[in-house]
Amino acid sequence: MTIDETRLRERLRNVEDPRLGADIVSLGLVDDLRITDDGIAEITLAFNAPYSPDEMAMGNRIRDVVAELGLEASLSVSLSWQNPDSPLPKVRNVVAVASGKGGVGKTTVATNLAVALAEAGARVGLLDGDIYGPNVPQMIGVDAEPGLTEDGQLVPPEGYGVKMVSMAFLADEETDPAMLRGPMVDKLLTQLIEGVEWGTLDYLLVDLPPGTGDAQLTLMQTVPVTGAVVVTTPENIALEDVRKGIRMFSEHDTPVLGIVENMSTFRCPSCGDHHELYGSGGGRKVAAEYDLPLLGEIPMDPEIRARNDADGPLAALGDSPAAEPFGELADAVADQVGIKNRAEAAGIDPDDPDIERVIPSDSYLEPSETDTAASKDDETSGASTGDPETPSGDGVSGGLDITDG
Ligand code: ADP
Ligand code: MG
Repeated sequence: MTIDETRLRERLRNVEDPRLGADIVSLGLVDDLRITDDGIAEITLAFNAPYSPDEMAMGNRIRDVVAELGLEASLSVSLSWQNPDSPLPKVRNVVAVASGKGGVGKTTVATNLAVALAEAGARVGLLDGDIYGPNVPQMIGVDAEPGLTEDGQLVPPEGYGVKMVSMAFLADEETDPAMLRGPMVDKLLTQLIEGVEWGTLDYLLVDLPPGTGDAQLTLMQTVPVTGAVVVTTPENIALEDVRKGIRMFSEHDTPVLGIVENMSTFRCPSCGDHHELYGSGGGRKVAAEYDLPLLGEIPMDPEIRARNDADGPLAALGDSPAAEPFGELADAVADQVGIKNRAEAAGIDPDDPDIERVIPSDSYLEPSETDTAASKDDETSGASTGDPETPSGDGVSGGLDITDG
């Protein structure tokens, strides 16, 4: 290491990981560092949560530190996340979307979360694994059939930038899904995981059937699952099922990334105000009970339902205020994925109580009380140093002109 490289490495100790409570050098998140003859600091980071606001903010801090030394930064992410044992070696993160019972809006959340992550720039896949109600194709507005490669892999059709496959593609018209026995569910789900040409994905979301049955186990046994997002409604009767779901994931060493409360409040289309219809605080309560982050509160919004049935997911409306809860949810999920992956890279127990999984001041739920506006500006200025058209292209990751190393 040259003197300048040593100096830069020391300066990078000023870049704090906002969640792991130490700087990126001490945590071992700087995998490689080199300064080229023409003054470019090539830095490889152990980051693996593309478009996580935390990681984009750290990327910006690193650029500042590099600039202070009169150098130009070229950031890349290491490929240490790649798991050779995974049947999906090109998929960075598998995120299960689960619920204790049906009808809580699991599919609505999975679909809109997928679209919101794709809107942010990520490469996203959505696997509709709910054999009992495979309604992702309808919600995301895709009626195309999947293609087939020469070796019989399914080629997923795309909707709103999301690659999607569904149990509905495989289930025979004559088979009554409700009659399908465990082993058959297993076989179909495995086929949808392994028999698909996903390509490179930042996030593969899996809409699981409700409850704690075979599909959940099959998923966890087939691929390394980064974590689960558990969806619930506010009322108390749903909570016992949620607890069961949380326990099932922990028993299989799959972290629960957090809780989403759906149908939290009612967004009145005429007055725009929020009213509580189903009581409130269920998600908050169960999140507190298990010390999990509340990833989002999605209001009951007639537009969500209407768009589910017709014009494509609400999250596709991007900057519209109605789509905002899903954008915030996508940020929160990406950040939690980042925490889990960086803790792993740093050799820290992801359940370490010192990890700030929930930062009171950055609550995604109360943007008015925080400086989100300022941090959004940071992200934009960071991203604009790269080519805004390419973040989702091959070999590029993270939303900050960070390339795969
Ligand atoms: P699940 O997958 O858990 O069975 P769905 O996502 O299919 O639940 O949602 C159940 C029904 O509730 C659907 O008709 C859906 O359009 C509607 N729905 C879900 N979430 C909302 C919401 N936040 N606002 C309004 N309607 C919703
Ligand atoms: Mg569903």
